[in-house]
Amino acid sequence: MEIEINTPILELNARHAESNRQLLAKEQVYMLDIMASPGAGKTSCILSVIDRLRSQLRLAVIEGDVASDVDAQRIKQAGLTAVQINTGGACHLEAMMIARALDALSLSEIDFLIVENVGNLVCPTEFDLGEHARVVILSVPEGHDKPQKYPGIFASADAIVVNKIDTLPLFDFDMAVFKETVKAMNPTAPVFTVSARTGEGMDDWCEWLANQVADVVG
Ligand code: MG
Ligand code: ZN
Repeated sequence: MEIEINTPILELNARHAESNRQLLAKEQVYMLDIMASPGAGKTSCILSVIDRLRSQLRLAVIEGDVASDVDAQRIKQAGLTAVQINTGGACHLEAMMIARALDALSLSEIDFLIVENVGNLVCPTEFDLGEHARVVILSVPEGHDKPQKYPGIFASADAIVVNKIDTLPLFDFDMAVFKETVKAMNPTAPVFTVSARTGEGMDDWCEWLANQVADVVG
């Protein structure tokens, strides 16, 4: 006999996600969920996006971490509002945690809310947060075969970002194979190749993001 222990948890999560979605719609806030392994460069990518979009959009960040607030501090140093969620060991964010963070924010003063999920390629996929879109970031040193190992997260993403492309000469990362694999799993998601460190490719990704936000915020 198999026991589906996840079902009640996910049903409860879905209710909170729906109420987050309604609140965001009412306040005209676009929320993006960023998912990746630890070390893929989520925070660095977020800082690079902030740099490019802050002149046209009002941004804020929700930082999900198992412990510590080092990433939230980096965002605050850039002069932005950051709300820290410490999951107390849990390896993903849940919609109820986001609901509390939304409570702590002045939503009427935000157009674009970026959620940095806990570094993990597995369970964040299962938990709807009420976001408008999901982006998964993969970094070159992790290898082009990650989508085969973690198909769920790549299949459910609205866009896929390959970060650290400045390190391509150092690794056997086959970009053509990566793009083919991803296309087979998720034909509609655009793939952006970027380096948060050098800024390469960031403009294309930010243009896509700005268009997404404009659809919601107007
Ligand atoms: Mg981070
Ligand atoms: Zn988890």
